Amino acid sequence: MIRLVLGLCAIGAVVATPVVTRSKEDVDRYRDFLLNTFTNKADKFKNLAAQSPDHPEMYSGKYQGDIVLDKEDVDDMVAQYASGRNAVIFPGLSTQWPDNTVVWAFADTHYEEPGQKEAVLEAMKLIESKTCVKFRQAEPSDRFFVNMTSYPSGCYAHVGYRVWRGPHIFNLGSTPGSDCFRQPTIVHELMHIMGFFHMHATYDRDNYVRVNYENIVSGAESDFDKLNEYLVGNLGVEYDYVSCLHYPALAWSKNFEPTIEPLREIDGVMGQREYITEKDWLRINRYHNCPGAWE
Ligand SMILES: [Zn+2]
Repeated sequence: MIRLVLGLCAIGAVVATPVVTRSKEDVDRYRDFLLNTFTNKADKFKNLAAQSPDHPEMYSGKYQGDIVLDKEDVDDMVAQYASGRNAVIFPGLSTQWPDNTVVWAFADTHYEEPGQKEAVLEAMKLIESKTCVKFRQAEPSDRFFVNMTSYPSGCYAHVGYRVWRGPHIFNLGSTPGSDCFRQPTIVHELMHIMGFFHMHATYDRDNYVRVNYENIVSGAESDFDKLNEYLVGNLGVEYDYVSCLHYPALAWSKNFEPTIEPLREIDGVMGQREYITEKDWLRINRYHNCPGAWE
């Protein structure tokens, strides 16, 4: 169980078999892809974003759309990619926030549009009402906290708690035609902050979905990386097609054909951003060992 719990908060790896040979060009391309996530603007996939207004996080230009990497991770990820693994394991596991309490602060002059602060506070309250996770506003003496910004560059966040990071990145900044401030989207980003990754990246996703690489727009292939089961577990909760952390069927599709195709019947809409599922809540509760979560 410890392995699984640790796993959820480490950026994982694409499955290690079969080993493939990669050229220097492949490795350089992968490094560029990762480094570009530090500078990409939300409009990298502007045309795709316009077709998917419910998923601004998907087109925010970061790793898998909205995951902010630590610079320390990139060399390690590239080295593993170059070694021929279909895998990228992030060094330095992150952990749960101490005392299951996420410490946060609105950055000065951010979230000043009407309703923005309220929307974030409501999402926090919702999580507190469904789980044992708490949110505490940072005191001046706090050094490790989520620095909440609202730059107009999409929705994105760091994953998990890493003490050496100092301020953790969290941004909700709507761009024209998209809205980061809907509740399931805010909870999606807060789940990253708590240590969760995307559902479609789960190590056993191939048992549940087929990824159609031929339909993925060029440059987004690595956004479909799978996470290594030694680093990522599902805490005994079955794959959740309708999780607020699942991407939709047409994610990064270049031709309106599905990139993610379910292999089983779904109760609900894959990639929906209307509500948080019971499985989402259960995974948060189990990850934090909340009372009753394992009964
Ligand atoms: Zn995300």
